[in-house]
Amino acid sequence: MRVLKFGGSSLADAERFNRAASIIINKASVGRIAVVLSAPGGVTNSLVSAIEKTVNGVDALPAVSNIENTFRNMTSSLKADYPSLDDERLTQLLDTELSDLRQLLHGVTLLRQCPADIQARLLVKGERINIALMSALLDARGHHTNVLDPVALFSGYGDYLESLVDISASKPRFAALQLSADDIQLMPGFTAGNEQGEIVTLGRNGSDYSAAVLAACLDAECCEIWTDVDGVYNCDPRLVEDAHLVDELSYKEAMELSYFGAKVLHPKTVSPIAQFHIPCLIKNSFNPDGAGTLVSGHTNTKDAVKGISSLEGMSMMSVSGPGMKGMVGMASRIFECISRAGISVALITQSSSEYSISFCLSSKDASAARLALSDEFELELANQLLDPIEVLGQLSIVTLVGDGMRENRGVSARFFQALAQADVNVVAIAQGSSERSVSAVVPEHRVRYAIGACHASFFSHMQRIDAFIVGVGVVGGELLGQIKRQQQALKEQHIDLRVCGIANSKGMELAANGIDLDNFEEAELAQCKQKFSLEVVSDFARVHAHINPVLVDNTSSDWMAKQYLDFLNAGFHIVTPNKKANTESYDYYQALRETALRKRRQFLYDTNVGAGLPVIDNLQSLLNAGDQLKSFSGILSGSLSYIFGKLDDGMAFSEVTAQARANGFTEPDPRDDLSGMDVARKLLILAREAGMKLELDDVEVEPALPPGFDSSGSVDEFMERLPQADAFFAEWLDKLKADGKVLRYTGAIVDGKCKVSIEAVGPDHPLFAVKDGENALAFHSRYYDPIPYVLRGYGAGAAVTAAGVFADILRTLPWKQEV
Ligand code: ADP
Ligand code: ASP
Ligand code: MG
Repeated sequence: MRVLKFGGSSLADAERFNRAASIIINKASVGRIAVVLSAPGGVTNSLVSAIEKTVNGVDALPAVSNIENTFRNMTSSLKADYPSLDDERLTQLLDTELSDLRQLLHGVTLLRQCPADIQARLLVKGERINIALMSALLDARGHHTNVLDPVALFSGYGDYLESLVDISASKPRFAALQLSADDIQLMPGFTAGNEQGEIVTLGRNGSDYSAAVLAACLDAECCEIWTDVDGVYNCDPRLVEDAHLVDELSYKEAMELSYFGAKVLHPKTVSPIAQFHIPCLIKNSFNPDGAGTLVSGHTNTKDAVKGISSLEGMSMMSVSGPGMKGMVGMASRIFECISRAGISVALITQSSSEYSISFCLSSKDASAARLALSDEFELELANQLLDPIEVLGQLSIVTLVGDGMRENRGVSARFFQALAQADVNVVAIAQGSSERSVSAVVPEHRVRYAIGACHASFFSHMQRIDAFIVGVGVVGGELLGQIKRQQQALKEQHIDLRVCGIANSKGMELAANGIDLDNFEEAELAQCKQKFSLEVVSDFARVHAHINPVLVDNTSSDWMAKQYLDFLNAGFHIVTPNKKANTESYDYYQALRETALRKRRQFLYDTNVGAGLPVIDNLQSLLNAGDQLKSFSGILSGSLSYIFGKLDDGMAFSEVTAQARANGFTEPDPRDDLSGMDVARKLLILAREAGMKLELDDVEVEPALPPGFDSSGSVDEFMERLPQADAFFAEWLDKLKADGKVLRYTGAIVDGKCKVSIEAVGPDHPLFAVKDGENALAFHSRYYDPIPYVLRGYGAGAAVTAAGVFADILRTLPWKQEV
């Protein structure tokens, strides 16, 4: 005998209902079967709402009409396909059930309350009608059925609405039945009878449990739960899009997963099948050929963690106070009074100092629990032996489950690292004593991030970065090209770098799963209705639960730089070649670092100095290892390195500048380079990196122009006037010729002071040979003395800068891959 259970999702309309019938017929052709049915999806919810409305004096007829329509439509559709369907008998039954329903609701209207026994009678209507419908359909399709009455056969105990079934009392009732081997047995789920023969329910979602109990009572060889997903997934597939199917679970794993929220199996289901060693298959009625998930005494422990589940709508109560210490029996008094109030506790933690006991329960029970505790500890509270009872609401419990956790180290470490990475604050922790589960209590609004981060850490050997790229000019455009070329190679290294947003001043394109870079055109941005803003981007990342979003600012805008703090607070990493933020006020500079640390996000700007040269990262490593900067000198501007290098060959200053501009080696307005401010910013960034609390104003800047040179007017006017500067440089170089010296535009840090100037350097000076756009940085430090630490290389250009930005983006990866 096999027991098959079909859930509401598999029975919600005529087509699905008929599909379930086909599965039943198919299975019946190879052996004896018994079938448990839920109500069609939504019907029990309509019944609950009809009861609530009636109690509150609101008209419940629309809810009842919904139910009536569901069944009438299903009957007429099935009649159209199977003309021999006995719809008259069905209509009669439906009329009787609905009139009983309306009568009961009328009673509720008068009473203004609905006792639990009446609720139970109302709630099981959907299952009862469904069984009649299936019986008629199977009959019409040529199969004999027999309906089993759960009220007479299942011996229920406990509450009217949350009963359990006494299997040993029920089993003999089945043995006495003499069931015919030719009949398909049908039984309404969710329903049982108490000692008085009254209808009771097995709790919401309880038809899974009905099937398990029926399988135990009939000594079935297998219990099959047919639902709308392919089996048990390692995470709720509604929360994690790339959740994967688990092929097998032990009873204990299934129990923990369902207890901690995996809705696909009702938590009470596992106990009977485990007790009677009945294997249970979870299958998809929309994909009957899928293998499904097998729950049995066996599991594989290859993966330490099998699944992650979450329980929402939780509150945490804490009982604490000086009176707790060493007091025998406190825990038992707390939990006894909670259990007397009929409240179930999901998780318990106790501080080792015995100063407090905390536990989680469903938020709907929180006020009843507080009342029960206040009564129980009235005296202790009045005498301040206990502090007022604390209740923290809007929490969820996230749980990792897996038999293999016992043999594996580091699972909890990885769990909490993933939670931290997703910026999820852990309110409490509990580990199942079997070491089969570990749970963290977290704020409810972060639960999707928590599950997503844990799933990525434990299952997805793919690490994901969701980049939002602002600015698609020279560097940004090149960066997009590099990402496009590299995306596949990164995937092979298990890194999924998605560009989820691209923006410029004209507009912004967003795509939750990544923009297709092969087909992206910058011109499309002008057509986008939305513009870049913190609100839009952070809402988007939140809605799509991006756990590792990175804002990449390729602009040189002040406006962008001033928003970094808000972006860090909203959970973004920041990667940028833009120097503005790091040269803002020192307070802002500090605030960025503190916020990044607090939010566990990264602020990366390696391209601020030396473009693609690895300047900042190396400098930080040295300083972290205890090095101290004594002095610095360097050529920090690619454009000025080019211009001054060309002067060595006797070219005129205005001529080289015009050439550099034409080749794109300078900013569109060369004054941005010649003013020296760009070098000043880079120097300030290095100085601050080395621990100096300086402002931009503290940097002494000598422009790369003759003193007092008139830089006013438009770019063209300026360029026209520039030949007037030629003589100044020519004469200076003439004077230097005798000593073999040349001019270089340098930045220097000496004795805690920063200075940007034109310097005359001889052949033995390290910067003498640095030209043609090359950058050179010489750090004299505690460790690098007397020979400095020198970095040299091409220090400008879109390709190297974009590559540096790209490298920073990859540095935001949350953890080292374990393969
Ligand atoms: P039924 O109507 O068949 O009883 P339910 O809606 O009660 O179906 O349960 C199936 C649903 O459970 C799935 O559609 C899925 O959204 C949800 N679910 C939650 N967690 C899991 C999980 N870990 N694996 C599979 N499904 C899950
Ligand atoms: N119909 C009931 C409910 O919706 C029982 C079930 O579907 O399992 O809760
Ligand atoms: Mg269900």
